[in-house]
Amino acid sequence: MIDVVVAGGGPVGMMLAGELRLHGVHALVLEKEAEPTRVVRALGLHARSLEVMDQRALLDRFLALGQRYPIGAFFAGIAKPPPDRLDTAHPYALAIPQTTTERLLTEHAIELGAEIRRGCELVGLSQDEDGVTAELADGTRLRSRYLVGCDGGRSTVRKLLGVGFPGAPAQVEWLLGEVEVGTPPEELAAVVAELSKTHKGFGAVPLGDGVYRVVARADGVAEDRTVPPTLDELRQGVRAIAGTDFGVHSPRWLSRFGDATRLAERYRTGRVLLAGDAAHIHPPMGGQGLNLGIQDAFNLGWKLAAAVDGWAPAGLLDSYHTERHPVAAAVLDNTRAQVELTSLEPGPQAVRRLVSELMDFEDVNRYLIEKISAIGVRYDFGEGHELLGRRMRDLELKRGRLYELMRGGRGLLLDQTGRLSVAGWADRVDHVVDGSEELDVPAALLRPDGHVAWAGDDQRELLGRLPKWFGAALT
Ligand SMILES: Cc1cc2nc3c(=O)[nH]c(=O)nc-3n(C[C@H](O)[C@H](O)[C@H](O)COP(=O)(O)OP(=O)(O)OC[C@H]3O[C@@H](n4cnc5c(N)ncnc54)[C@H](O)[C@@H]3O)c2cc1C
Repeated sequence: MIDVVVAGGGPVGMMLAGELRLHGVHALVLEKEAEPTRVVRALGLHARSLEVMDQRALLDRFLALGQRYPIGAFFAGIAKPPPDRLDTAHPYALAIPQTTTERLLTEHAIELGAEIRRGCELVGLSQDEDGVTAELADGTRLRSRYLVGCDGGRSTVRKLLGVGFPGAPAQVEWLLGEVEVGTPPEELAAVVAELSKTHKGFGAVPLGDGVYRVVARADGVAEDRTVPPTLDELRQGVRAIAGTDFGVHSPRWLSRFGDATRLAERYRTGRVLLAGDAAHIHPPMGGQGLNLGIQDAFNLGWKLAAAVDGWAPAGLLDSYHTERHPVAAAVLDNTRAQVELTSLEPGPQAVRRLVSELMDFEDVNRYLIEKISAIGVRYDFGEGHELLGRRMRDLELKRGRLYELMRGGRGLLLDQTGRLSVAGWADRVDHVVDGSEELDVPAALLRPDGHVAWAGDDQRELLGRLPKWFGAALT
């Protein structure tokens, strides 16, 4: 019996496998493709994902291979200077191709002992009280205690479960290609800058070595979006907006994407769960999908490990849906809003101008950045301190940085009073007696994903909160 089968070895599956292994859970990743993809979808990571990488000692690997950009221009491409005082130690976006992110997460999962089988497609699924049976394309059957579908937007797992995926189909489509161009770089950059003022359906981002990622709004929506466009279609799309096709040639790959927004009705069906694009799809405005999926995995990993280890309190695994479903719904909403703001119709263009003016108010700009970067996410843990349900930012403590103390993936009581105790939970929760000028509560209980489960100074209150997240005390 395997502990957890992860169907799909994209970024979310690999992140989850790493999280499970951190807790000693046997994780097997099944990936249908024999080789990693060369297709680059996401171009970067936002602040919350960078914090997550920091909490797993992975950040330096990412920073070494990425490029930092000021956090601006993410909401509907409206460029504004970054606001002062963002509530994060990482107030930037990191440009890094998805293929590199996937490689780093795969290496991390393997280092921690995850088993990865490539060329293995999951085609069947059934579950009973004790476990899940997965059927592979070659007829092999595998038995596991849990299974997580991280198998992308067209998720086989979701379909086999019969979980509804309601939402809106694509109304708009964009063509995308990694191509070489015939136009000199300065000339192309000038045209792109001019067009970007109004024609949000076009972009050409240099990727190095003379290769560009070219995006152009398509004329209609293809019937079968799994079929890539031809180079001629891309040329036509570019020409329709720019008046020239910039001599695009020699594509590395071509694809299309749309503005469909869909959200799985439920993230958990018994012993089977969904994460990443398998649970939600939306247009790439603001560059959020991969980030959202990584954060799903970060939320789910320790809960699933607790269920496997047998200490999960009632409701812990269900809290994955309760917490992450609304976060995805909010992302779907903000991407829909952004698509509206990129429409060339006079009405949306007028709204865009108004939103742009509003973003000159620092609070509005900060609010939108906290949304897109996910540092503003707050789970509903009920009434309480302002920090309750939010993730704790990294803090300078006397003995080092908070995030460095969280790398084991355990709970943590950050205690400035020195009077509190986690006796009974010491196998699951670290007790750190330390202080920080940046922390204005006497003590905070952090879950393994860094979200604040309790804040205060009363030991009795603390004893009331510990079992909710960490199960029964050891006697
Ligand atoms: C043009 C474009 C630009 C984007 N830009 C950004 C961006 O800047 N920032 C951002 O955060 N997001 C961006 N995204 C979204 C991002 O690419 C996705 O959200 C991300 O890839 C989701 O990761 P995943 O692991 O959930 O799914 P996927 O990356 O789709 O991985 C799923 C994996 O499962 C495998 N699989 C599928 N079926 C099976 C099966 N039956 N058995 C076994 N394996 C299976 C697949 O081969 C694949 O490897 C963009 C998307 C597009 C299209």
